[in-house]
Amino acid sequence: MELPWAEPYKVKMVEEIFMSSREQREKWIEEEGNNLFNLASDRVFIDLLTDSGTGAMSDRQWAEIMMGDESYAGSQSYLKLREVVRHTLGFPYFLPTHQGRAAENVLFSILVKENNVVPGNSHFDTTKGHIEFRKAHAIDCTIEEAFDINNLHPFKGNIDLEKLEEVYKAHPKENIPFCMITVTCNSSGGQPVSMQNIKDVKALSDRYGIPVFFDAARFAENAYFIKEREDEYQDKTIKEIVKEMFSYGDGFTMSAKKDGLVNIGGLLGMRNEQLYRACGNMGIIYEGFITYGGLAGRDLAALAQGLLESTELPYLKARIDQVEYLGNKLIAYGIPIQKPIGGHAVFVDALNFLTHVPREEYPAQTLAIELYKESGVRGVEIGTLLADRDPETRKDRFPKLELLRLAIPRRTYSYKHLDYVAAALKNIFDRREEIRSGLEIVWESEILRHFTILLKKK
Ligand SMILES: *Cc1c(COP(=O)(O)O)cnc(C)c1O
Repeated sequence: MELPWAEPYKVKMVEEIFMSSREQREKWIEEEGNNLFNLASDRVFIDLLTDSGTGAMSDRQWAEIMMGDESYAGSQSYLKLREVVRHTLGFPYFLPTHQGRAAENVLFSILVKENNVVPGNSHFDTTKGHIEFRKAHAIDCTIEEAFDINNLHPFKGNIDLEKLEEVYKAHPKENIPFCMITVTCNSSGGQPVSMQNIKDVKALSDRYGIPVFFDAARFAENAYFIKEREDEYQDKTIKEIVKEMFSYGDGFTMSAKKDGLVNIGGLLGMRNEQLYRACGNMGIIYEGFITYGGLAGRDLAALAQGLLESTELPYLKARIDQVEYLGNKLIAYGIPIQKPIGGHAVFVDALNFLTHVPREEYPAQTLAIELYKESGVRGVEIGTLLADRDPETRKDRFPKLELLRLAIPRRTYSYKHLDYVAAALKNIFDRREEIRSGLEIVWESEILRHFTILLKKK
């Protein structure tokens, strides 16, 4: 018999999680305005709210924490991280930052000006926020296939080169500070970008003299998909693929809370020394001195180790396998989800799940609340509440897709936990015909309403 595959790690420390009763959960979530962000974590059994900073560190990372050098300037932990950024990612210059959006803030403070346009594949919300905050515009050039959840295109994060060239033709070069490639593309469901597409975007951008930057939060997961799905890369190591991917970029921003395998942190990398100097000044204003950037020395050391671990194939196989396992279970139960299954989360299609709940009553949030009451599992709405109101009409903006996202933290839950999540969704799916009403808003903030919104049952 061929031996089955198994995880390349064993568990050294455990953390208790708490089961509650359905009655308790119904009471709690009602008290908290049907907003899952308001729940204390001990009222959640399995927490799939996000995979950002919620994973488990390895024993080697914890060892690095103990050895962290807290010198204000020139810390050994900084030098360790610099070595990894140079050799594993291939960038000569970098700044640590306290998280991904801080790297965006520092870089965009230098490069993005009013009325600029920044093309890319679906920009992440904080990235878009930092662009729009500077009165510039993010232009989404993702391929059309990305918006059809049943289209099995292997690289739904790809940039449409025609759309991109239109942007390059329509605006003078001075108004386009860079093109941003997000790997994997979070906003389109953790979908990867192919090496071919990255190369093509780089070649096109070179012709127009536009730099290319990566939003690299899930760069290692993207490299894994390149190895799996792009023929000429199947014999390359993940580290070789990572190095090649980054070789097509002039720089990157990174939330280290994802593939950095740490609980907090970010990076900004670049090739140009002048840009590094300019960003360094901005970093000192916002983050801290250039050798720590808002992080403790021990955080830098744990990140250096995390980057080495996340770029190993066995780790990535275990990571992506969990996401695929949950996704395939749901598919087997007939539950509609986004396909192909992405790198970090499973997205349940709420419009085709709760078909009797009107869009005005927020089907994805309704499903998220049902799942919590059923099981104590916390997911998150990626739908109308997140899409917010139209700034002019103040009417709800209805996005193309209304999704419940189940993000899987790294190295954290077992396959039994995933079975539990799938069973809970199946129970709701079996009684979906009975769910005919959703939620209405009691209170909401002016912007980013989903974090603090209060809702009640319709
Ligand atoms: C998480 C994330 C960010 C923002 O990073 P934070 O560490 O949360 O500030 C930016 N881009 C992408 C693609 C992300 O996934």
